[in-house]
Amino acid sequence: MVQSAVLGFPRIGPNRELKKATEGYWNGKITVDELFKVGKDLRTQNWKLQKEAGVDIIPSNDFSFYDQVLDLSLLFNVIPDRYTKYDLSPIDTLFAMGRGLQRKATATEKAVDVTALEMVKWFDSNYHYVRPTFSKTTQFKLNGQKPVDEFLEAKGLGIQTRPVLLGPVSYLFLGKADKDSLDLEPLSLLDQLLPLYAEILSKLAAAGATEVQIDEPILVLDLPANAQAAIKKAYAYFGKQSNLPKITLATYFGTVVPNLDAIKGLPVAALHVDFVRAPEQFDDVVAAIGDKQTLSVGIVDGRNIWKNDFKKSSAFVNKAIEKLGADRVIVATSSSLLHTPVDLTNETKLDAEIKGFFSFATQKLDEVVVITKNVSGQDVTSALEANAKSVESRGKSKLIHDSSVKARVSSIDEKMSTRAAPFEQRLPEQKKVFNLPLFPTTTIGSFPQTKDIRINRNKFNKGTISAEEYEKFINSEIETVIRFQEEIGLDVLVHGEPERNDMVQYFGEQINGYAFTVNGWVQSYGSRYVRPPIIVGDLSRPKAMSVKESVYAQSITSKPVKGMLTGPITCLRWSFPRDDVDQKTQAMQLALALRDEVNDLEAAGIKVIQVDEPALREGLPLREGAERSAYYTWAAEAFRVATSGVANKTQIHSHFCYSDLDPNHIKALDADVVSIEFSKKDDANYIAEFKNYPNHIGLGLFDIHSPRVPSKDEFITKISTILKSYPAEKFWVNPDCGLKTRGWEETRLSLTHMVEAAKYFREQY
Ligand code: GLN
Ligand code: ZN
Repeated sequence: MVQSAVLGFPRIGPNRELKKATEGYWNGKITVDELFKVGKDLRTQNWKLQKEAGVDIIPSNDFSFYDQVLDLSLLFNVIPDRYTKYDLSPIDTLFAMGRGLQRKATATEKAVDVTALEMVKWFDSNYHYVRPTFSKTTQFKLNGQKPVDEFLEAKGLGIQTRPVLLGPVSYLFLGKADKDSLDLEPLSLLDQLLPLYAEILSKLAAAGATEVQIDEPILVLDLPANAQAAIKKAYAYFGKQSNLPKITLATYFGTVVPNLDAIKGLPVAALHVDFVRAPEQFDDVVAAIGDKQTLSVGIVDGRNIWKNDFKKSSAFVNKAIEKLGADRVIVATSSSLLHTPVDLTNETKLDAEIKGFFSFATQKLDEVVVITKNVSGQDVTSALEANAKSVESRGKSKLIHDSSVKARVSSIDEKMSTRAAPFEQRLPEQKKVFNLPLFPTTTIGSFPQTKDIRINRNKFNKGTISAEEYEKFINSEIETVIRFQEEIGLDVLVHGEPERNDMVQYFGEQINGYAFTVNGWVQSYGSRYVRPPIIVGDLSRPKAMSVKESVYAQSITSKPVKGMLTGPITCLRWSFPRDDVDQKTQAMQLALALRDEVNDLEAAGIKVIQVDEPALREGLPLREGAERSAYYTWAAEAFRVATSGVANKTQIHSHFCYSDLDPNHIKALDADVVSIEFSKKDDANYIAEFKNYPNHIGLGLFDIHSPRVPSKDEFITKISTILKSYPAEKFWVNPDCGLKTRGWEETRLSLTHMVEAAKYFREQY
């Protein structure tokens, strides 16, 4: 019998219950027991939902209070010493590692001051995991048994689950060596780690688990030989243990073909492959699969929200059944559903036609089940008919096609994507306009999104305050932010983005061709969720989107205020993209809309314009090759189309979060100033890579994901270190990213210290 499987379900709850609980706990509003109760309720709800939908293989241990990779670090005791010295409880240790912790001593508790671990994007998604950080002093051992506890919890409800664990090789490979152990190769720790995996797996077996899902998503990357060897070694090791559950080795987000040699012949019961992302790997995968192995066919998209085409998917699965037989085929989601919103039925405001195009996590459960039934010969005629109708109507929908947009995209030429003069000529013109000191200070754009801002935005959305009242409120927020920046002595100001709910959604709402959800939240990291807009059709900008706020901000100060936009790649990457048009076309449509906005800002007197591209790096195709080099070209071109319509003296800034950026890729954008995440990179080699970057850079000096306040001395030390390998004349001083998730108190202090440090260096030079 063909079985249906889900690789993971969103844990945030249909109404963001997890966010409310974790933040409530951090703020001291609920107790740890209340927090745990919310976790338990969410797990129960998810398991029951999947059971009732008729899913055969239901995951457990896909729940996490912060991040599933961080859970493993806690489980295996991969906890840097700086967190262990405070005697924190396991859950507080987890949160301290995830987000840092700074608190004053109380009668019962010691003072704590510890930074967070590095956070990195999960492959090419907008989910972030907390990077395992290994040191020579790391002592692997099991702390608790979360996967077993959660398996037993489900079992107690009468639901047999398949626990999910990130595999040992991916876990190590995605980690890094700590500062004190830079010559440590994480993969060399495999021998120490494998017995712990075996122990957890045998405990799971003893608890009644018959199968487990072990994710090795790194199998879709270009793997070095030692990682391929580690895969072989790890799974051969598991094969030799007795009494382990059957293993499904799961991969997703790409093709495994270049690593098939490492996978072939492994003693695992099943292989899961993502055929949504890479259907072309079918023949190679089927040829590589062993006689007794099962193929889990990832056919329901875990990364996007388009309704599945049952006819097409069933035909695909049937191909697998023909080759392997029904007993050796599983119909599955392509990846965990973590990356999709929880439930489409919560969407009350979507146009009915558009709503019919979509399927969220809860609906995807039914999709997996219907496809399974269909390929098993059960009667699902009415579901198939409704689906076929819906797929057909989307293809023909008038909401999708706009011929004038298509014509404008095809008219893009070289001139449109090139600034009038090269940087060396622009720089002196800009210097004349701005006359900035050495070590110019700025921020990345947003200031704290306070409760007051959210309340007023809600009131405005609900119509309880008028547009004029709301504008007045926003202007007063802008004024507060401007006055604050003047007071502490920042050089290039921002308006603070109080009017923006989200940096992509805000623009998406003003661009034709986008659709929005009211509750389509997806976890980005920890308690931070985003509500990606959906690109439904051809994109165009009917009128200016951000000019009013920037102009107001500039009108009340003599210092330059940066206009602030979200770049084409980020708008694309942080939306759910269309699956009927290629990404480049969608990026160019966005680039043209933004170009008009950039030009409007300039015309309205804004002299510095920042076009953020924090998602530039994550858009990079996971493997080297033609697709990746094409991306380098078109992504940079899209940015330049958006920003090249301005005069030489207008200064274009850009901003990227997360490191591991290739300086050459950044260079191709030709922005005058870029700011990049740097606070957690204490790596001299990384700075050195940017030494020859011709334009100016602000290396982010503090981590905005953490409420922790760095002291002036800490900034001074950091800047001196950077100055050893990076020139002062190109050095901008700024935080890592926007401050919207921070409180005012820490923002005020951190920025004040940062500006004082910049002033200190001005005196030295
Ligand atoms: N300008 C944006 C902000 O400050 C940039 C955010 C980001 O890079 N993620 O919020
Ligand atoms: Zn950022």
